[in-house]
Amino acid sequence: MTGKILVTAGPTREKIDPVRYISNYSTGTFGYEIAKAAVNRGFRVVLISGPVSLDRPKGVKLIRVESALELRAAVLREAASADYIVMAAAVSDWRVKEAKTRKIKRTRKTMRMELVENPDILSELGKVKGGRVLAGFALESEGLEKNALKKLKAKNLDIIIANKIDSKTKPFGKARTSVSVYDRYGGKLEAKNRTKAEIAEIILDKVLEFI
Ligand code: C5P
Repeated sequence: MTGKILVTAGPTREKIDPVRYISNYSTGTFGYEIAKAAVNRGFRVVLISGPVSLDRPKGVKLIRVESALELRAAVLREAASADYIVMAAAVSDWRVKEAKTRKIKRTRKTMRMELVENPDILSELGKVKGGRVLAGFALESEGLEKNALKKLKAKNLDIIIANKIDSKTKPFGKARTSVSVYDRYGGKLEAKNRTKAEIAEIILDKVLEFI
């Protein structure tokens, strides 16, 4: 089984000034596990990664990015020739409107910062879908199924992987996690308390159903 799969992973960093940024707790583990599993299955794998401390998986073309806008540019460049796209990156929803070129000095007790919305890369891909298989993640603290299905539809995806986050279940890093995988035809699959490597295989099985 071959073909080109594009996987995104990790957080984005949105610059405030040369020494500060806004980001999130994503470690990139899920995306890297999916990339590794895809290499083992014989896919051509392009991994576009935000800043993470994971080793480059063997056999992938790794493109490192920092901000959501950089991620978007790399994704759009690679997407045209991809058969499958799995967006596991935790893209920052906002960026700083005017990042400063010099370090902001601590001269005031309070500071205001204006944020502007980042483009939703996955939605953009959904609009020009073509024959590609598109998979996304939904990290939700409430209404997991309802919100995941809403995103599946709104973003015109084939597959969505719903991952719960609350005070007991933090899906970051190496820990086992539980996900529900939904597809556009109403299929639902549950994977409870599995390693991310195991879930990566389940996701790839699902992706391959869409050929
Ligand atoms: O809407 P929400 O951010 O929960 O959607 C999550 C999915 O959308 C993930 O697959 C994520 O990689 C993708 N996404 C994106 N661009 C954004 C925000 C999220 O591609 N700006």
